[in-house]
Amino acid sequence: MPEILVIGSLNADLVVRAPYFPQPGETISGEDLQVIPGGKGANQAVAAARLGSSVALLGRVGRDNFGDFLLDNLKSNKVDSQLVQRDHAATGTAIIIVDSNGQNSIVLSPGANGKVSSADVNHAPFPAGGLLLLQLEIPIPTVLSAAQRARENNVRVILNPAPAKELPKELISLAHFIFPNESELGILTRLPVNDVSSAERAAKQLLELGAQNVIVTLGSNGALIVTRERATHIPAFKVNVVDTTAAGDAFIGGFATALLQNKSLEESVRYGCACGALATTKFGAQPSLPAREEVEKLIGM
Ligand code: ADP
Repeated sequence: MPEILVIGSLNADLVVRAPYFPQPGETISGEDLQVIPGGKGANQAVAAARLGSSVALLGRVGRDNFGDFLLDNLKSNKVDSQLVQRDHAATGTAIIIVDSNGQNSIVLSPGANGKVSSADVNHAPFPAGGLLLLQLEIPIPTVLSAAQRARENNVRVILNPAPAKELPKELISLAHFIFPNESELGILTRLPVNDVSSAERAAKQLLELGAQNVIVTLGSNGALIVTRERATHIPAFKVNVVDTTAAGDAFIGGFATALLQNKSLEESVRYGCACGALATTKFGAQPSLPAREEVEKLIGM
């Protein structure tokens, strides 16, 4: 049985570079379309698999060409896709426009991701002693059922509360590790988060709600670990940034992989920081996720 189970989304990212964002009613010409595998669930699964973890993904795609494309991609990245069902709904897609400043504007169409149900989760084998990775691109009741099943099976839960939403307290209490970025932490706690000390204050609120470890990702400022005992800032690795898409997903895949190799919390977060930094050096979601050798080189292992 794989050591990591990811329950989450798979998306086809349809990316077009354009000189600027079109106004309502305006048509402009962009560059050639790129179709890139994405979706936070699949990104985190592929991130961990590229680093050498054994990973299964549970989710849904449509019975369409994008569904075939995403399943083939999981296979070529050695992610077990037996738990990905084909649904009547269309495969999840993200329509992404990138302007000449590198800013992006995104419309997400959840499609089959919106159909992942608690019943799907009940059929899943939970890897005893392993990890469950959850994000918020599938229905929240499904995410909650998955976390409850993990608790029953002694599987530690890594919760990435992205995209940002307010969450049921019970879900937060079931997280062994919760990984918000600054804006997600602000939305979860309704507190202002704009620097390390405000992040620490808000993270403590998640501890009070029952999360065991809070790791706030701070972009180019690295990450902040907040536990009941201490707060530790882990600085970022310096890299040439091209596109930050999937940095958070690379971070989580790296963290999970290091944790399963019995690395400490601090070492695992540092490993995640290296993965996140490397993901910013390449364009797109999954094409930017690093291999183990690249991470070891950056860390100097
Ligand atoms: P998200 O992509 O979820 O918004 P972040 O932007 O915080 O998450 O990025 C996740 C992690 O990736 C950060 O904690 C950091 O370690 C790394 N990272 C992100 N942006 C940079 C950057 N500009 N330089 C170096 N590391 C980065």
